[in-house]
Amino acid sequence: MIRAAPAKPPMPRDYYTVLDVSVSSTPVQIRQAYQRLARRYSPDVNFLDRDTEALFEEIVEAYRVLSNPTARTLYDRGPVAGEGILRPGRASRPMAGRRGESLHVPVELSFQQAASGVATDVVVERLSPCRTCQATGLRPGAAAAGCGHCGGTGAVWTDRGAIAPETCPACDGTGERVSDPCSACRGRGARPETATVAVAIPAGVDTGVQLRVPGEGHAGPFGGPRGDLMVIARVREDTAFTRKGDNLYVELAVTVVEAVLGVKAKVLTLEGTAEVVVPPGTQSGQVLRMRGRGLPRLSGEGRGDLYVTVRVAIPRGIDARTQELFREIGRLLPASPRQEMRA
Ligand SMILES: [Zn+2]
Ligand SMILES: [Zn+2]
Repeated sequence: MIRAAPAKPPMPRDYYTVLDVSVSSTPVQIRQAYQRLARRYSPDVNFLDRDTEALFEEIVEAYRVLSNPTARTLYDRGPVAGEGILRPGRASRPMAGRRGESLHVPVELSFQQAASGVATDVVVERLSPCRTCQATGLRPGAAAAGCGHCGGTGAVWTDRGAIAPETCPACDGTGERVSDPCSACRGRGARPETATVAVAIPAGVDTGVQLRVPGEGHAGPFGGPRGDLMVIARVREDTAFTRKGDNLYVELAVTVVEAVLGVKAKVLTLEGTAEVVVPPGTQSGQVLRMRGRGLPRLSGEGRGDLYVTVRVAIPRGIDARTQELFREIGRLLPASPRQEMRA
């Protein structure tokens, strides 16, 4: 069994990391991730394994929080004094802002780039911490006051029946009110900036595949950590190959004689030409499979297949002698291909 994580770590891990989902994941995605992990690490299938037991408890706890919209909002906002949840890499400032939004950027790839994988630079327009105010949102020299809307707690109860408070909209959960805002970022502590992010595109991506680059999205307000960058692949079509999932389709023209007698023909593959055996008696439209000559699977395990569709090229405008030879062949051929129509 492959273990995804070590035994219960000394410090609680980030719940999104535990479930291996993005901070922008939908409730459905979170539930699916939980179900997948719960199946794998269930004590029912891993009995007497204490490491797995600890991991399973961690998964259950992460799902308990992230599956509840209010609990998730609070968790996203970060630690609050007395709450007891420490999030690695997030607690440097006790009242740091919430995590930034994730950023979706389409990336256009050639067919070959998608087939082989490519390291590429993606130019993004994203929010970055404001350098003028060091992400505080304050005009240099000004001091922050406690937020009056939430009494400095960063959370408000909007609904009497709610089980947990929500992030204060006035201060974005920081508990501080910016009375004298930084003019460069209008008091948000973050401003748009163009940046270049190196992205490794794995071999085998297809149009619509989303690749997550953690921590390269928008910066959060008031020094909050960055969200994720979601790179959405768009693969251009190829003139020679047609793609269906990991499989490739290509056509091969043969002569009538080659179709009847068989031939070893050169066919176009991803790695240049390769030889394919067209057996004697091959029909027009017949498909030959070349195993493992398709696209690499995104999972990294093996490759798809290459399907070669044979097209028999019928000669046109043949001379009298060739016509006579074909008539001779016609007399020799034992059966009509239309026999079943007379039945
Ligand atoms: Zn507030
Ligand atoms: Zn600023």
